[in-house]
Amino acid sequence: MNVDPDCLFCKIVAGQIPSKKVFEDEELLAFHDIHPWAPVHVLVIPKQHIATLADVGPEHDALLGRMLGLAPRLMKELGVGNGFRTLLNTGRDGGQEVYHLHMHVMGGPRPWRKG
Ligand code: 5GP
Ligand code: ZN
Repeated sequence: MNVDPDCLFCKIVAGQIPSKKVFEDEELLAFHDIHPWAPVHVLVIPKQHIATLADVGPEHDALLGRMLGLAPRLMKELGVGNGFRTLLNTGRDGGQEVYHLHMHVMGGPRPWRKG
């Protein structure tokens, strides 16, 4: 599996940095964002290191589909019943801060801190 030893989220996948996990299987991990914008704010990531959405190819179609498909399931499990927001920031102008592909999934009653 492709791993970048200097990448924050690869370290979370490896357990070198703790996280509050909400889902894990062979290829995906989901955990609570450390600075939540909303009452529920989780990040869904592939375990393999892919820097950004601009780096994916057709070989990643199934992986991306699984990331998106996990969102409603997680929100239901976390008690979010009134809708949620999914967000992928890509590259500098996209506002990406952590260069390991991740999808934000945010929900819970408004007002939110951001977003
Ligand atoms: P980006 O701006 O790259 O889309 O979002 C990166 C997200 O990662 C931010 O919402 C930030 O709060 C979150 N984050 C950064 N460092 C950590 C960390 O060490 N642990 C967790 N759980 N979230 C983090
Ligand atoms: Zn990584």
